[in-house]
Amino acid sequence: MNSSNAASPNHDRVRTRFAPSPTGYLHVGGARTALYSYLFAKKNGGDFILRVEDTDEERSTEDSMKMQLADLAWLGLNYSEGVDSKTLKDIGPYGPYRQSQRKNIYREYADKLLKDGIAYHCFMTDEEIEAQRELAIKEGRPQQVNSPYRDWTLAQAEAEIAKGRQATVRFKVPDLTREYSFVDLVRGEVKFPSDMVNDFVLLRTGGMPVYNFCNVIDDALMKISHVMRGEEHLSNTLRQMMLYEALKFPLPRFGHLSIILGSDRQKLSKRHGATSVNEYNERGYIPEAMNNFLALCGWSSATGEEVLSMDEMIQQFDTDRLHPASAVFDEVKLKWMNAQHLRALPHAELWKRLAPFFAKAGLILPTDADWQDRSLSVFKIYMELLADAVELYRPLSLAPLEVQPESKEALGWPKTREVVEKWKSLVTAHPTDYISEAEFVAYQDQVKNLVGVKGKELFMPIRVAVIGKPQGAELKILVPLMKKTVLIERADTVLQQI
Ligand code: GLU
Repeated sequence: MNSSNAASPNHDRVRTRFAPSPTGYLHVGGARTALYSYLFAKKNGGDFILRVEDTDEERSTEDSMKMQLADLAWLGLNYSEGVDSKTLKDIGPYGPYRQSQRKNIYREYADKLLKDGIAYHCFMTDEEIEAQRELAIKEGRPQQVNSPYRDWTLAQAEAEIAKGRQATVRFKVPDLTREYSFVDLVRGEVKFPSDMVNDFVLLRTGGMPVYNFCNVIDDALMKISHVMRGEEHLSNTLRQMMLYEALKFPLPRFGHLSIILGSDRQKLSKRHGATSVNEYNERGYIPEAMNNFLALCGWSSATGEEVLSMDEMIQQFDTDRLHPASAVFDEVKLKWMNAQHLRALPHAELWKRLAPFFAKAGLILPTDADWQDRSLSVFKIYMELLADAVELYRPLSLAPLEVQPESKEALGWPKTREVVEKWKSLVTAHPTDYISEAEFVAYQDQVKNLVGVKGKELFMPIRVAVIGKPQGAELKILVPLMKKTVLIERADTVLQQI
């Protein structure tokens, strides 16, 4: 271990985990939790684990799990243990890694707690619980459940169950006056009064375990040393600490991450724009930028640097620099960050990332690597998102030229045919495959002198002959990227329409 804050008094190896519930897409907040857990494990030479918390049978779906795992894979947050994103099989020695497949384990621990008198069967009906709550509200007391079954013996309860009565398993909250406290990695010391909770359910009727119970058992059995999660889980930590104590499990260190807000300082929601990682992927953000941006939502590097690679973030990550104050999700900054990372990619790699966007838009572009490299040197400064490349490259698509209706006026001018013919003949006589920017400017001048036209009567017909419309990107940028044969073919297509 090479970082002071990596110390967990109860564990000799750093092991972190991301434990998503597969009830929807991977939210950017979840991705940030995963990222911090990943960075912390890597920084300390530890393990990063993925566990699926799918005990909510009504809301959990396999599709959601697949989507979330695919998003993590896209981000490059690779885990050494967990559910494989492609095969959906378990990898690692502490499986199964899906809680729905671990029910017998939870049952075993519940039985142990029942046997030790630390938990009990509770036969209260929903109506009885509700009636107690209402009375407590009326009398101005905390809304706590007092189960009449708390002091029943196990044998007594089991006899009732044998008769077919349904019971939950409730944890017997210790009658302590002491406070529970722990040192949070983000917020420092957190104290809970022990009377903040009362006997809570571990297994529902039917045997389904609750989140707090599974979470503790799994983190302990999977030897998790550091638990990072959203601050909304802070209030669960008291119940979990009680369970760690009762089960004699070593306590991990906890870090509760600040909430992410939208630009109006309200909790980040769909109202602010995209909140799913996948949507950013589809819009043309790249994982390097997404990770870098999310890392800075609640953490800062010691050097104050902002544009960081994954390796740099691993080197610099430090829980001391996790901020307890809420972070603001600034889309303008994310876009800027994307432009920085996108433009820094090697061209061959950048092309690989752009290819699916071109394919989706139906663009057919040269496969020649030199051409791709040259074109990116020209275009990448205009790109912030991968998707921006589509319109930049559209005029260069090798699909047959479609002369756009807005070209009609220019096609009707008296000198247009002559301009296009001259242009075509100069291109045809050009000795090499490509025309440079300077050569293009010179050819344009020659057409001007030979035909005796200038201004828009010169430029627009040439533009239509090259890109099929009288307006658009500068020809001196486009023409050097178009093969002579293509330019001739396009001029011919236009001549047929004059
Ligand atoms: N399944 C929980 C969630 O998705 C994880 C809580 C935790 O990390 O302990 O919020």
